[in-house]
Order: sequence, then structure tokens, then C-alpha cells
Amino acid sequence: MSSGLLDVLGYVDEELIRNPEEGVRSLSEENPDHPYGIIGGGREESASERGQITVKRLREALDFFRAGIKAAGHEYEGSLDENVFVVTPFGTYKPTCLLPPWMYLDISGLDGSKALFVGSKSCPRVNPVYIAKSFEGFILPKLREVGIEIEAEAEAKYVGVPGLEGRRYILPVEIGYSLDVSENLREYTESISEKLGDSTHVFLPCLGYRKPRENWEYMKEKLGVEVVELPSLPPSTAGMRLASCLEKMASKEGVELYKGYSAVSAKIEGSKCFSVEAVHRSEVSEVEASAFVLATGDYISDDLLVEKDRIVERAFGLRIETPEDQDYLSWLDDTPFPVSGHPASRFGVKVDRAMRPLVKGDVLAENLFACGSIIAGYDYNTEKCGFGVCISTALASAEGVLSYL
Ligand SMILES: Cc1cc2nc3c(=O)[nH]c(=O)nc-3n(C[C@H](O)[C@H](O)[C@H](O)COP(=O)(O)OP(=O)(O)OC[C@H]3O[C@@H](n4cnc5c(N)ncnc54)[C@H](O)[C@@H]3O)c2cc1C
Repeated sequence: MSSGLLDVLGYVDEELIRNPEEGVRSLSEENPDHPYGIIGGGREESASERGQITVKRLREALDFFRAGIKAAGHEYEGSLDENVFVVTPFGTYKPTCLLPPWMYLDISGLDGSKALFVGSKSCPRVNPVYIAKSFEGFILPKLREVGIEIEAEAEAKYVGVPGLEGRRYILPVEIGYSLDVSENLREYTESISEKLGDSTHVFLPCLGYRKPRENWEYMKEKLGVEVVELPSLPPSTAGMRLASCLEKMASKEGVELYKGYSAVSAKIEGSKCFSVEAVHRSEVSEVEASAFVLATGDYISDDLLVEKDRIVERAFGLRIETPEDQDYLSWLDDTPFPVSGHPASRFGVKVDRAMRPLVKGDVLAENLFACGSIIAGYDYNTEKCGFGVCISTALASAEGVLSYL
């Protein structure tokens, strides 16, 4: 689902965060129930101690991620000291932290430049005319509101993609597959070159799937300007590259992946989880283990189910705690998309500092842990902290598993 950019923290209470490390530290200090606060020790630590522990664990998690990604032949650039502002295919900008080098361009540094947005008429997911207009009419004024004064121009051009002529609808990733063929890349680059004019930066829907770095370097050399791959909507090219890289990392460590299985129930007796029942088509398997990690995502991945009068987590049948005095379904009536985020986005499984799910304040099972967006207390959409929370809570739950075993 993700656009493949690694967000750590972009906003707190709608306020833009320029330095993610400082932002995470003060968020953890102020909010012990936020997942960043929990990995810092939650309410059991003092605010300043909690902030320090959180930053240390976040750094460890990101270092682990970068080292693993590098060993699997992929790259992420950026630092915890500074958020980068990237253009999105919605014609907006977003702050993010780590991203592949060929997507890494901080638009706050574009003063005096001219951006050329390139699209293909059969790829409506990246509309260059719309993005170029938004760049001048929306992004630059919005950046000024947060104190980033830049003057820049933007224009749009359509360029046909070799090998995909005649197709009525193509995805950005298909442009990538096409450009992985050297002859197509050469032809496409030549077509852009003819339309380049005095542009200083070229933004593309995709610059290759299997060999983005090689294609990026080729294009930069031939065009003589900066070349940038735009993030894409699901199925996102960068997200797919990241997912395949994470799978490689896992296989290398001896992890066996079983795809397409759905956990439907768990056998918990006393204080221990003994097994999980998983279904694949009509085949039912009982999976036994010494410890379990619940990492099934939230509403969008279908693990949090909103019923008429309650929200449940499907795999373990956990009833999600919601405020007693509020009818959360009626919140949808007033405004489905509040700027500060829908309160239901923060619902999820509550955990203790060892990342074990809690039911009414008690640990459900001593050998069950949770991580990622299933955890309560944050909203990755508005806070722009998706993968930062996932990676750091994953490390925390792995440590929880190790200390249990
Ligand atoms: C459109 C979109 C764009 C985003 N862009 C960004 C971005 O640019 N940067 C960023 O940092 N974050 C981004 N995010 C947020 C980020 O994707 C999430 O924070 C992250 O994917 C959560 O990871 P997760 O592993 O917890 O859950 P998920 O990624 O949702 O993965 C959960 C997995 O569990 C599986 N599952 C669910 N239920 C069961 C079950 N019962 N049994 C077995 N398996 C099950 C699901 O099929 C899924 O594969 C974006 C999110 C969306 C929706």
C-alpha cells in the first residue's frame, strides 16, 4: 500500500516537524501512550528518560533497516536530523525522512529552478499538467506559509513510453518494466531530451523497476539535469521494490514465508497463546509457536473490522477499546476527513512496554506481542509517521520476544 517513503514524523497537532529526531523526542516526552512513547517505556519512565530511550531505539531500528536494505541491494537516503519535502502525485508536498536516492529531492532547495513534470497520456495516475499547476499554485504558496520562500517554475509534457504504445491504461510500475529494457530507456530519454527546454529538474512517474539506480544515472548523464522519480499511488513502485527487498532480507535470515494465509482465531489458555488457526482457501492449519507477533495492520489491511456497535481485531478477536462517552460511528456523519485526522484512526490494540496486547489493562498472553499500525494511539495519515512507528515497534516487539524466550 505504502508509497515506499519512510516517514518518521511529519506533523504533531498539524504543526510541521522539520527535525524528526527532535519531534519524536518531544512527542514521546509529552505522550506516553503514543507508540513512540511506549517504546520509550510508556508511563513507567519519566518524560525526559522516555524521550531519550525512544530516540535511541528509533535510531537502532533505522540503522538495522538501512544495513539490511543495503545488504539486499537496495538503498535509502536521508537523516533523522531533517525531513525532506517531496512532491506527491496528488500535486501536494509531504515531509518524509528516508527515501531511495532517485526519489530524494528536497523541493525546499528548488529556488530559481524550473521543474518539468513528464507523464504519459495513458497513465492517468500521474497527471503532469495537474501536478505542474499545483506545484506553482498550491505547493509553493503552502511552503511559504511555513517559512520556506522559494521561487520556481513548472511545466508539463507528455512523452510516449516505448513498448506500451496503444495501451489505454498503464500503471507507473509498467513504465518501470518498460524502461528496464535498455533500448526503451534510450528512446524514452531521447524523447524527453527533445522536450527538455531550459528545465533544471525532470520528474517522472517511474524510472525503472529492477534497475532504478542504473537508469537514473543514465538519464541524468544524457539529459544533463536532475532526474527525480515521483512517489506513486498503490500499487506503488517504490513500495513494491521495498516489499520485495524486505522479503529478500527475511529469507536471507532463514524466515519461511507463507503467503495468502489468514489468521482467524487463536488458542489462548491461561496466560499463554499456544497456536493460531490460519486459513488458506479451504485449507485450515494450526500453527504452533513459542511466541507470536501480531502485525496485521489496521482497517485498510482488513484486520480491524468496524461493526455496528464495536470494533474488533479479527485474528485474535480482540475488542478494541473506544471512548465510552462517544458514538464513534456518528463522527463520520459530520466530516469524514477532518484535517486533524478521524479519531477512529487512533483506535487499535493497546500494548504494554514489552509490546504485549492488553485487554482492559491486563496482558492477554505473555508470549503474544504486537507491532505496526495495529497499535493504538496514533494516526499515520496525519502525523506522517507510518514506517517510523512500524520499524521501531517491530524492533521493540522482537526484543520483547527475545526476552520472553
Ligand atoms: C495509501 C497509503 C500510503 C502510505 N504511504 C506511506 C509512506 O509514504 N510512508 C510511510 O512511512 N507510511 C506510509 N503509509 C503507512 C504505512 O503503509 C503503514 O504504516 C504500514 O504499512 C503499516 O505496516 P503494518 O505492517 O503494520 O501493516 P500493513 O502494511 O497493513 O500489513 C499488514 C499485513 O497483514 C496482513 N493481514 C491482515 N489481517 C491478517 C490476518 N488475519 N491474517 C494474516 N494476515 C493478515 C495484511 O494482508 C497485510 O499484508 C501509507 C499507507 C497508505 C494506506
